[in-house]
Amino acid sequence: MTLLDRTIVRLLPAVPKPVVQKLSERYIAGPELKDARETVRRLNAQGKMATVDVLGEEITNEEEAAAIVRAYLDVFADIERCDLDANVSVKLTALGLKFGYDICRANLTTVVADAASRGNFVRIDMEDSSTTDDTMQLYRDLRRDGHDNVGVVLQATLRRTLSDVGELADLRPSVRLCKGIYIEPPEIAYRDFGAVRANYVRSLSALLEAGCYVGIATHDEWLVSEGKRLVAEHGLERGQYEFQMLLGVRPDLGNRLVREGHRLRVYVPFGRHWYAYSMRRLQENPKIAGYIAADTIGRFIPTRRNGA
Ligand SMILES: Cc1cc2nc3c(=O)[nH]c(=O)nc-3n(C[C@H](O)[C@H](O)[C@H](O)COP(=O)(O)OP(=O)(O)OC[C@H]3O[C@@H](n4cnc5c(N)ncnc54)[C@H](O)[C@@H]3O)c2cc1C
Repeated sequence: MTLLDRTIVRLLPAVPKPVVQKLSERYIAGPELKDARETVRRLNAQGKMATVDVLGEEITNEEEAAAIVRAYLDVFADIERCDLDANVSVKLTALGLKFGYDICRANLTTVVADAASRGNFVRIDMEDSSTTDDTMQLYRDLRRDGHDNVGVVLQATLRRTLSDVGELADLRPSVRLCKGIYIEPPEIAYRDFGAVRANYVRSLSALLEAGCYVGIATHDEWLVSEGKRLVAEHGLERGQYEFQMLLGVRPDLGNRLVREGHRLRVYVPFGRHWYAYSMRRLQENPKIAGYIAADTIGRFIPTRRNGA
């Protein structure tokens, strides 16, 4: 990112919400379940799988967490009814982690049990480092309670990740490996781009070595190539791993993976709590400065329509 981009990213919270919403349309299916359904249908028709996320990390009370749980149950019913190729991703803050571990555990169990009753799967997203220990513990709790249709996410940015791989290895977990979006202090996280990539490759090797099913979640072409190399070296078949990408990010790269015969799952967020997710995506968009400049100029200089 250029200096201008970095400055714009720092100023993003000052950008008016309607502008943020417009700029982030490509990253979010829409406010309603039907929007997610149509997006998943379109992706499935392109040979891509999906993971549906009910946006909700900005909730402020237990009732809202309960509403998110109900929304997930609706998603599972819809996936089954419409015969979609999709699972779900959950954020533990949206399931009430900030209101208590036990509340979150009960909500997560409800979602995972419903998924199991329909032969579906739940991926627990990983949020900032204040939630890592609880997330790992909740994952372990659920596995100990006999829930096998649940997976976790590890972040290559965190220095602890390789040791987390070792600690989870006995469970042969299903893991999504990503770089990690949250800005963490240098004591616990790599900041250097090359160091994050190197930790990603080390962690992916260790996960494959341990026989884990891995969702290789990245739009970094170099890491995608490393992922392909490692799955080939481990002699994995098509159904034994998958690539994962975010809705609205590098669809060209995703299409290429599908053409090459790899499985690709696209992360499809929907719902009314769109702001925090949108901000994170915009902060990562290398073209953000240009978009904001264009939008700002566009608001001052109206575009000419029909030659008028
Ligand atoms: C399926 C999926 C699930 C994820 N789940 C989590 C999670 O649970 N926890 C977590 O911390 N993080 C999660 N992430 C985010 C991840 O940690 C990274 O922040 C994000 O994927 C960007 O890293 P990258 O590997 O794509 O590499 P980057 O180097 O950041 O990006 C590579 C290239 O992709 C393009 N690109 C990336 N982001 C954007 C964007 N927003 N808009 C336009 N172009 C873009 C650019 O061309 C960029 O050069 C997830 C990512 C994916 C793909």
